[in-house]
Parts: sequence; structure tokens; C-alpha cells
Amino acid sequence: MVTTLRFIASLLGPSPVVDSVPEKRAQQTRLSCWFPYLFLHVGCLGVIWVGWSWIAVAVAVALYFVRMFAVTAFYHRYFSHRTFKTSRFTQFVFAVWANSAAQRGPIWWACQHRHHHQHSDDECDAHSPDQHGFYWSHIGWLTAPDNLVIHARRVPDLLRFPELRFLDRFSVLVPLILATVLYGLGAALAHFTPSLGTNGWQMVVWGFFISTVVLFHGTCTINSLAHLLGSRRFRTTDSSRNSLLLAMLTLGEGWHNNHHRYPGTVKQGFYWWEIDPTYVGLRFFEWIGLIWELNPVPEKILAEGQAQVHRPLSESN
Ligand SMILES: [Zn+2]
Ligand SMILES: [Zn+2]
Repeated sequence: MVTTLRFIASLLGPSPVVDSVPEKRAQQTRLSCWFPYLFLHVGCLGVIWVGWSWIAVAVAVALYFVRMFAVTAFYHRYFSHRTFKTSRFTQFVFAVWANSAAQRGPIWWACQHRHHHQHSDDECDAHSPDQHGFYWSHIGWLTAPDNLVIHARRVPDLLRFPELRFLDRFSVLVPLILATVLYGLGAALAHFTPSLGTNGWQMVVWGFFISTVVLFHGTCTINSLAHLLGSRRFRTTDSSRNSLLLAMLTLGEGWHNNHHRYPGTVKQGFYWWEIDPTYVGLRFFEWIGLIWELNPVPEKILAEGQAQVHRPLSESN
């Protein structure tokens, strides 16, 4: 079993832990690194054979938002930025939940994202649209071996948990389980409620392939479009932007200029009119006692933002 998982993981490109890696990564892609993305996209073509049903589409939409929440709340705001605290067990549950998005493991994700904040839009940034163009910032950087390693120095706080290292080593395991469960769900519905018009493979194509691919591109817009489209409230040294549209698609991540100004807070929408559903969800988790010590936005940052918000965009770059 372990050997099989290692084989599948090697096809999808595991993230080796290295002691040092160049800050400026080579823009060289490797054909095998395209495999997981081609696999997921080609899988969507299965819709030609399986068709659709309301229940399959509803499951795909639900899984998009449920997993987007996990990516933003846990991979981003917790593992990358440590903006709240939780128990070790809940941390693992959060990691598994976010891992179901098929965006590699929590340690790799956090490692790459911390690198982005350290080098936002400078020549070492792995996915800057300013430096490398839209295509590279959106998906190209994910096919470069230099970006697929875990730099130990950047994530010592996460590497000390063997259960997280396991998820990173076998990051395909949870997505595979999700796909299998979806097949079982579709097959069960076909057997017990055939009037719904679904079946195992239809549920896999919609709930796993289509939902995961849309989720993947939704997440990638924050690396690409959130540095290109929208307004700039804060004079950050990068080109990050705030966008209501991207915030809706990503459950709050679209307030990216806010986030680059102060990444240490659990909030990305700094003001009441900046919709941040992930923050609302995290406040619920705080209310039921799952998480605690949520880092707020400092008053001085809020005042700074309100002082700058009325300036023309051309002055804020
Ligand atoms: Zn950014
Ligand atoms: Zn961040």
C-alpha cells in the first residue's frame, strides 16, 4: 500500500525537504510536473460521457466553497501566517480538510507562500505577474522543479509535526479518498434514488474533477489577478490589489492589498463593507471553542487605510 502511494506521489511530484534553495528560482518547467494539472483538466472532459444532474452540480458547487474555505482559512491564514491558534489535533483535521483541495500539502503550501510575502513582486518572487507575466504567475510556476521543494529554513514550525510531514509526503492520499467517496455516493444514489439521475462516475467528474479544477484556478487568481486587477488602498512595495469580485470567488482572499499591508491578521476584509466569509467562518470556530487568539487588525493600520482610501489610484503605486 505504502509503495503504491509512493509511486502515485512520485508521479504527481512529492515536495522534497531541502536545507537550501536559491531565493531566485529558475523559470524552467519539467514535463512531468504538468502531469497532475493535465490529469485534472482532462478528467473534466469526462462530462461528455457522464452528462450532468442537479445533484452532481450541487455537490460540485458545495465542494468548491467548502474546500476554498479550507484553503484560505487553514493553508493560508493558519499554516502560512499563524493568525490564530488551535490544538494539535484540530490543526491536523484542518490540514486534511485543506489537503482535499489537491493543492499539495500544508507545509509546501505555507513554504511557497511565505517566500511570496518575503519577495512580493521582486525578481525572486516565484509567481509575480509583474516579473514573469500572467501565465507564469497563474500556473507556470507550479511546473518548475525549483518551486516544488520545501525549504526547511522557512517552515521549521511546521516540519516538527510528523503528521503534517506525512500529509505532504502523500499529498495525493486525501484527494484520492475524496474521489473514492464521491464514487460511492453517486453509486449509492443511483441505486436508492435513481430519479436523481446520477451515478458514481458522474459524481466523480463533477464533485472531484470539475470542482477541483475550478477551485484550483480560483486559488491561482490570487497569485495572478490579485496583483493585476483592482484598487490599491495601501502603498505596499508590491502591486497587490483589492477586488470585490476576487473576494467573492475566494471567500475573502480578494482583499489582497490589505493582506500584503498586514499579513499577520486573521482578517483580509479590514472594514465592514469588505466581505470576508472566511473570517466569519473562523469567528464561528472561535465561538465553538475550536480556535482562539485570532489576531485582529491593529487600529493604526485601519486608520492608515482610511486616510489613504480616497487618493487617486495613480498616486498609490
Ligand atoms: Zn500576493
Ligand atoms: Zn499571505
